[in-house]
Amino acid sequence: MAKYVKEILIRRDEIAAMCRRLGEKISADYADREVILIGVLKGAYVFMADLARCLTIPCRVDFMSVSSYGSGTRSSGVVRITKDLDMDITGKHIIIVEDIVDTGLTLNHLRQLLGTRKPASIAVCTAFDKPERRKVNVTVDYVGMQIPDEFIVGYGLDFDGKYRNLPDISILSDDSQGGAQ
Ligand code: 5GP
Repeated sequence: MAKYVKEILIRRDEIAAMCRRLGEKISADYADREVILIGVLKGAYVFMADLARCLTIPCRVDFMSVSSYGSGTRSSGVVRITKDLDMDITGKHIIIVEDIVDTGLTLNHLRQLLGTRKPASIAVCTAFDKPERRKVNVTVDYVGMQIPDEFIVGYGLDFDGKYRNLPDISILSDDSQGGAQ
């Protein structure tokens, strides 16, 4: 294990099984519909790629980028769109794909914003969920795994831009928060 990792919380094989389970469920729920997966950058880029390949239904993908964190580990509550969708989602079935739902502030904002564009339906799929930390009540239709109130990195999730490439979900050692990878 790398010295900057204190503990592996979720192994890559558990994550792969989680993606397969979510893919089967979503494919069954949308059996006769076409969906647009909307990945929330940057954190969701790895999950989005895995989830998309576990779907057996026709889908399109698009991305948007929002900024809700500085370089710290807690939500600032400020959500800013830094890259909008390329596609018109009016009349389409969309699934917002998130890496993690924490306070729910980001998702709440996104759901409201995308709802104004009149899609046929909106669902949310998150890889990880920290329900203990929720500040707003927001519907999450598909949850990969619930996790305890720990700051995690890997599988797309970063600390100060680093560690997104770790294949397992990990908890950083205390001296890595701010140190070099
Ligand atoms: P929320 O608005 O729900 O508080 O935060 C959502 C965003 O905060 C996530 O998309 C992610 O970028 C970031 N975030 C929340 N919890 C964690 C965590 O444990 N680790 C990392 N790396 N990012 C987190």
